[in-house]
Amino acid sequence: MAFAPDVKSELEKIVGVGNVRDEDYVLTAYATDISEIPPSKADAVVLPESKEEVSAILKMANERKIPVTPRASNTLGFGVGLAQGGILLDLGKMNEILRIEEDLMTVTAQAGCGAYKLFQAVNKRGLDIPVRPWFGSGPSIGSWIAATGTGARVHRYGHCQEWVCGLEVVLATGEIIQTGAGQYENHSSYLHRGGSGNLMNLFQMTFGTLGVITEVTVGLIPLPETTISVCYGFNDMESFIKAAYDIQRADAATDIEHEDGDLYNHFLEMSEPHPFILCITNQGHEKEAKARTEIVSQICEGLGGHALPDKFAKATWDNAATFDYRTARFGRYTLAAASCSYRSYERAYRIIKDTFAKYNIRNAWSGWSCWPAWVEGWAVAYYNPETQLEDMQKAKFEITRQCAYLPDYFFNSVRAPYEDLLVRIKNMIDPNNIMNPGTWDFVTGAPFKAIRNIPLEQ
Ligand SMILES: Cc1cc2nc3c(=O)[nH]c(=O)nc-3n(C[C@H](O)[C@H](O)[C@H](O)COP(=O)(O)OP(=O)(O)OC[C@H]3O[C@@H](n4cnc5c(N)ncnc54)[C@H](O)[C@@H]3O)c2cc1C
Repeated sequence: MAFAPDVKSELEKIVGVGNVRDEDYVLTAYATDISEIPPSKADAVVLPESKEEVSAILKMANERKIPVTPRASNTLGFGVGLAQGGILLDLGKMNEILRIEEDLMTVTAQAGCGAYKLFQAVNKRGLDIPVRPWFGSGPSIGSWIAATGTGARVHRYGHCQEWVCGLEVVLATGEIIQTGAGQYENHSSYLHRGGSGNLMNLFQMTFGTLGVITEVTVGLIPLPETTISVCYGFNDMESFIKAAYDIQRADAATDIEHEDGDLYNHFLEMSEPHPFILCITNQGHEKEAKARTEIVSQICEGLGGHALPDKFAKATWDNAATFDYRTARFGRYTLAAASCSYRSYERAYRIIKDTFAKYNIRNAWSGWSCWPAWVEGWAVAYYNPETQLEDMQKAKFEITRQCAYLPDYFFNSVRAPYEDLLVRIKNMIDPNNIMNPGTWDFVTGAPFKAIRNIPLEQ
């Protein structure tokens, strides 16, 4: 679908001439994500500089029924940030930190502000964002909240969305709404979680399908005084999973990370004979961190785990945020994720690893235990787009189809019981279905363009 001729000039009136880009090289650059999903172009990339501009863009798009896809750095994949025509809204110019309120332990930033920029700013004040992501420098606080919101320490603190206490969102109609008490300067800390009836969850993890997040307030924790990381290697998956679960039950860790030997052997070039590795980190006051680490050692050693040299913990915890740079030389990569309960974990792992092995696709496993008691794991799979694209597409297709029938799997084929209500809310606030259409299929309940057309078979 191409724009009607006057749409570009209307957009230019709103954001200025230089902030509407429709040159082919620009559209091409925005047409792919990290995944194997085929490229898909917008009609224009628009770069607003304020919420008022976002509002005017959406109002016009809604009246003219033009799809709008919010976009940050496109590292999630699955096609979720790819536009199929229409406007691709890049919030990269809305990147200011608006306020750090030390007494309330909150930070407020525009949605396009880089997540790591925010970490650096609050760390300087002796504060920290509770969840510590593994992605590189690209993702913004808005896209992180709109999408996955996960990271190390998710076992201790839950997902970053749990810590969001204020959002500003522009709806498809152009209406600007505030939800959660954090949106109001000098808000009472009593209302830290937004008081009753807040609507923040609607816009978190819904991938820009219900509105554009323009401002985020996140609660903070004190910057930990001490960090102790240890790694244990296991020879079988059963003991590895049991150790992770027992550590979680014993409340003995700040972070429980899961890796397989392929990560160290193939990608970090550190020889490691154990097929499964746990990297456990404790933070806080020194005595407390040491005591918890002692419990971790007892659990791991009791289950046959072998303590690994410090360099493994350094490569894992200390360098997590550089993982994508360190491994980029292996080619283009994509993710196959397996968020599920402990009881489905081994099966999900085997499906993903066996399928990639069948197609000779190099990959490494990482993940972490999540609060309250489940696992987010994923294989980062490297491939040559020239020669292996088709194999990668087949592999991802097979993985999705098999995993969809695991109990407690996050792309489960079971329709959520609240789906009908969500559909009604979606129809009410986005009557022309312009917000990132196709990313969440509000009719079938299938998340993501990537899998919605896959026939699921038992
Ligand atoms: C090596 C690697 C490591 C990773 N590690 C982590 C990790 O530790 N933790 C984690 O959570 N994820 C991780 N990811 C996944 C990904 O980086 C995150 O989901 C990240 O938050 C996506 O941000 P992005 O800027 O790339 O978003 P995009 O991919 O550009 O967008 C993601 C979705 O959010 C929507 N969106 C973007 N901005 C807005 C907005 N302002 N309002 C509404 N909707 C919006 C988009 O339309 C899209 O649907 C990792 C990925 C890789 C490749």
